[in-house]
This record gives sequence, C-alpha cells and structure tokens, in this order.
Amino acid sequence: MNLFEKDLASLNQLAKSAADWCCDFQRDVGGRPVAQLDSPHPPAANLPNLGVGSAAAMERFKQDIAPGLSGSVGPRYLGFVVGGTTPAAMLADWMVSACDQNTALPGDSISCAAELQALDWLRQLFHLPDLFDGVLTTGGTASNILGVLCGRQHAGLQQGIDIARDGLTCADIKFFSATPHASTLKALAIAGLGRNNLTSVACMQDSEAMDTLDLELKLKATKAKGKVVVASAGTVTGTAFDDLRTVAELCRRYDAWLHVDGAFGLFGRLSEDRRPWTDGIELADSIASDAHKWLNVPYDCGIFFTRHPTLLHQVCSVAAPYLDVNSATTSLMDRGIENSRRFRALPVWMSLMAYGREGFKELVEQNCRQAERLALWLEQAAGYKLMTPCNLNVVVFRPRIDDEEIGKWLQALNSTGQVFMTPGIWQGRPAIRAAFSNWRTTDEDVVLICQILDTLTPEQ
Ligand SMILES: *Cc1c(COP(=O)(O)O)cnc(C)c1O
Repeated sequence: MNLFEKDLASLNQLAKSAADWCCDFQRDVGGRPVAQLDSPHPPAANLPNLGVGSAAAMERFKQDIAPGLSGSVGPRYLGFVVGGTTPAAMLADWMVSACDQNTALPGDSISCAAELQALDWLRQLFHLPDLFDGVLTTGGTASNILGVLCGRQHAGLQQGIDIARDGLTCADIKFFSATPHASTLKALAIAGLGRNNLTSVACMQDSEAMDTLDLELKLKATKAKGKVVVASAGTVTGTAFDDLRTVAELCRRYDAWLHVDGAFGLFGRLSEDRRPWTDGIELADSIASDAHKWLNVPYDCGIFFTRHPTLLHQVCSVAAPYLDVNSATTSLMDRGIENSRRFRALPVWMSLMAYGREGFKELVEQNCRQAERLALWLEQAAGYKLMTPCNLNVVVFRPRIDDEEIGKWLQALNSTGQVFMTPGIWQGRPAIRAAFSNWRTTDEDVVLICQILDTLTPEQ
C-alpha cells in the first residue's frame, strides 16, 4: 500500500479528527487572540522527501501552523470587511473538496446548473430583475475586473473595435469614478487601461458619494469615444452610496457603461429601510459583489452580474475543439477568468437553502444595529470622535490624539487580542475602521469592545 492508499483506508478516522479540529476551532475562536500581529512563520524546513501520511501531517499542522492562525472567523474581528463562515457554508465547503467538481462546462455534472441556481437565488436575495446573468468569481476584485473588461469591450465596440479579438489597438476609453475601491484601480491596470486612466469625479460634501452634477460636467466635457462609469454601492470606509438612478440616467444619455461596485453594500438591499439607497441599480450594466464578506461563506467567493452576457462571453470565451461539449446549459468557463473552476457555488447554495432570505436579512440588520451601537457609544465618549454617521455596518472614528499617534494607538488596541480593527482615511486624515459582517458577533461583543475602548481612552 502506498501512502495515498493507506490514507484512504483510514479516511473515516482521519476525517473525524479533522472535523474535530474544525469544530474545536470554531467553538474556541472567541477565546483565542483575534489576530496574530507578529506575522508568524512556520518553522524553516525543506520539502519532505518521504511523506509522513495524513495523520502525522495533521499533527505537524497543529504544531507548526494552527497556533499562527488568525481569529478572523470569530466575533470581534472588525478589520476590513471579512465576514465569517456559517455552519452550512463551512460544511458545504468541506463537501466541495470531497467531490472536487470542475465547475467549468456542463455535460458531466450538475455543478454548473447548481451554480446557475445559486446565482438566481442571489439575484432574488438582492431584489434584482432576472435580466441579469452572472457568474461566481474569486472575489470582489475579480468581479470588478470582469466589470472593467465588459465596459472596455462595450466601449471598444462603440468605436468599431473588438478588443477581445484584436486587442486595445487605438481604442479611446475613459473611466470615471468618485471613490473607487483600490481593486478598481487594479482592474484598470490589469485591463491594460492604466491606473491613471481614471477621471476623478467630485464627491458630495463630507461624503464619499459621487457628485452627479460633476459627473455630468465631466461626461459632457470629455472627447473620449468610449466611457465607463464605476459607481459605488457602499464605499469601503464611509459606506457611501452613489445616486445610482441619476448616475444611470447620465450613463444612458452620454452612452457610458455603468459598473456598480457593491462588494458588501449590495447587502443593504436585504433591509427594507436601506433598499432605496440602491434604487436604480437595476439599470446598471454590471454589478460586482462578494459572498465571502456578508454572505458569510468561506474564502473565496465573489459575485458578478451583467445585463450583457454576450459581451461577457466575448471577453471570456474559450475556443478550443476539445472543450466543445454539447449541452443546453451555459458554460461557466466562458463567463469568468478561470477555465477550471472550484464548485464554490455549493456553500452559497447550502447557505441560502439553510438560512433563507430572512436569515440573511436578520444577519445584515443585526450587524448594522451593532455598528450603530458602537457609533453611539463613541459619540458619547469624551476621548473619541465619530468621523461620520454610521448608516450601515462600518464605524469610522478616531481617538482624540494627533495624526501621528493613531497608528500606535491602533497597535495597542489590536494587541489586546480581544478585538481587531484596521486603519482608514477619512477626508484626508487617518482614522480607524470597525466593520461588522459576521453572524457570530453578539451584542455582548459590542459591550466588551466598548469596555476595551474605554480602557484605551487617550489622556485629555
Ligand atoms: C472588499 C471590496 C472589494 C474587493 O473585494 P475582494 O473580495 O477583496 O476581492 C471591492 N470593492 C469594495 C467596495 C470592497 O469592500
């Protein structure tokens, strides 16, 4: 018996011990340090020549890797917008590995059709019309890249150039955005359009939302033959929402592609009070969002929707004779960046089946309520300043100290091991962000966080 066969022979036992480790990690995550600030490394070692088998490898993992893991799946990790993982999503992710489907082409598995169903459910979750087609991606960045590539293709066709076929040649394309996420700039770099090829649109006063009057001026003034507007449904710091209806009307009038980045802000549509903020999104040409953030599925899983699947197909289509499998179902490799694809739809499918629309609506509302609670506490605390009213799940604040001291203060906060927050910039000044996006976070956690902040109140 070789090592693979030996492992297979004891698979039940191995799987039980891995499952035990997973469940223990999930159960104890609230008690372990929320983040590993010293960026640990595994002990230096060369590639093993002879393997030790899975049981021994698991012991090595517990010894060499596990102690350095972040507690980001736990309740008090408020950095970035990381989300957590629900039990259904975690279990589904295990099953994805066990069945290891290549969710690329229909013809030998149900997995492509299951992804299309998951996308249809997501569309319903977000109250989007069914003229949107979609694909799951590796994240919001990949979804923004697809949006930029589709916009680029559209803008090329407007000037008689099929960029996917013939390259950029001399296409004339300009991008417009007010507060783009860093991943949109990355998308412009990757798309060969250039990070600097972004016309900055002004923001509304004290806000990260687009000033649509300025957008109109800039669209009117440009001589570019192809135009793409990247709008925000929830900016990463101020959670600002562009006025999408007005932006969409301007895009139609000036013949511009409209891509909306709603990585986590799209989930605002789950709560009735907040749905009007994304009014007009149904007119977007493409939308990017994330499932590994607020849907609480494990990394990695992003969402891309477009009303122009033909353009997406032009950008992503794979022409190779050996791939020509006949089937009525859509080929997903022709909709995304990768050809071979993980069955990342299953955690989405299982989560939506397990918890339903109501479950996620509650999750979103719970996190928003918690953010509001923290914001309220900060507003009343003498040593802190709330930088902008909290309307969704992100709280932006700073201790009342000098700009240069903020980094050190944040380090001290995160060193408590009880909570983890990340830096941000608000109106040009350093600030601290606390983002709530995990089903595990309880109201008691918020109380504990306020207590920790209280002990770190700067001297007045
Ligand atoms: C997180 C985020 C992204 C990037 O998404 P990834 O999943 O990290 O690739 C893009 N836009 C916004 C607004 C985000 O919050």
